[in-house]
Amino acid sequence: MDTSVYVFAEDLAGEGLGPVLDRITGYGAAGVTVAAAHHRTRDVTPHGVTRITQRQDGVHFPVPDGLFGRLVPPLQPGADKDPLAEVRRACADRGLSAHGWAVFLRNPTLGAAHPDVTVRNCFGDHGFPADLCPAHPDTRGYAVALARAVARQGFASVVAEALHFATFSAQRLAVPLGPMDAFLFGLCFCDHCLRRATDLGVHAEVAREECARIVGGVLDGDLPAQGEVTRAALTAYAGPEVVAYARARSETVTTLVAEVAAAVTEEGAKLTYIDGTGAAKGYADGLPPAGLAAHDAWQLGVDLVALGDIVPSFAVLGYARDAARVADDVAAYQRSVGKDRELRTVLRPGVPDIGPFGETDATERLAAKVRAAKAAGAQGVDFYAYGLAPLNALARIKGALG
Ligand SMILES: [Zn+2]
Repeated sequence: MDTSVYVFAEDLAGEGLGPVLDRITGYGAAGVTVAAAHHRTRDVTPHGVTRITQRQDGVHFPVPDGLFGRLVPPLQPGADKDPLAEVRRACADRGLSAHGWAVFLRNPTLGAAHPDVTVRNCFGDHGFPADLCPAHPDTRGYAVALARAVARQGFASVVAEALHFATFSAQRLAVPLGPMDAFLFGLCFCDHCLRRATDLGVHAEVAREECARIVGGVLDGDLPAQGEVTRAALTAYAGPEVVAYARARSETVTTLVAEVAAAVTEEGAKLTYIDGTGAAKGYADGLPPAGLAAHDAWQLGVDLVALGDIVPSFAVLGYARDAARVADDVAAYQRSVGKDRELRTVLRPGVPDIGPFGETDATERLAAKVRAAKAAGAQGVDFYAYGLAPLNALARIKGALG
């Protein structure tokens, strides 16, 4: 079974490339999945040289001339020194494989500089600077160029995160939005999304008006929707035009992923696609709601059956405390994308999926998830993430793979 540990460039720079790779080799992992393009965040880094680490939007390599159009990724500090080339060499010396992890459409720096490429809600607001709309031609050109640039760094694979629509989010929210209200509030109705849906025969403007009427009502004090988002519940709540509009977004994502996959293949690498549904469901507490990620991926515009014909490899986010849930998610992905596609599972060795209580059987619980993923059809397991998990949690990887 192939294995890797997700690592951040800042952690390699801080703790030292050699010591980190030695540690990862000691865990028994076969490779690293290193952040080549990431987004702004502030992380507690329990064993880092700083105990809190601020990460920025942008790429950890020099931007090639002539590849990007209007949207050019910001350069990370130290990117001009080409740190990823050193990572690749050091991995090769140790017999470790190196995968390039890229966050595609979450980039608040680019969104703030170019608000027109960000998603626009049913009221006409560009309120989400981090979320670049996958229907905008400039965003699409950026995604293809970024994929090409990461592949050219010489990685075995390009691991694509956030290459789809995003979920609704707000920093402050004092309105009781139900899951379906939040879903409607998060739908993009930019000119490009409206046009694509109209071209597919959807009454896009009717869908927008219906979303604005429902969400506007809740903002005015109507009772929020109850229950999780399902197609049936959404049809009953918002009507068939809204559901048709939401479903039509998958054409936008599928065609974009097809362009990205083709670019990665042309550059001699392989695309591994991460559908963020598993994170939307289980990232916060490891307790995903009942619907399996593969069944709810349409909510991000992800059509796994269609992508199964295009993408050679998928990473399933196994953000769950329960090993049986990880197995169910992997099995559902395999049914959607087909048995001939590579399936990997991303597991967290520490909280919230394991511990902090029950430390005595923590390693066995991680091992049970590795076994469950493998039995359900996963050919690879990746552990997330080196800089975020404490050393005692990371040490479980060795036992879990042993
Ligand atoms: Zn849009």
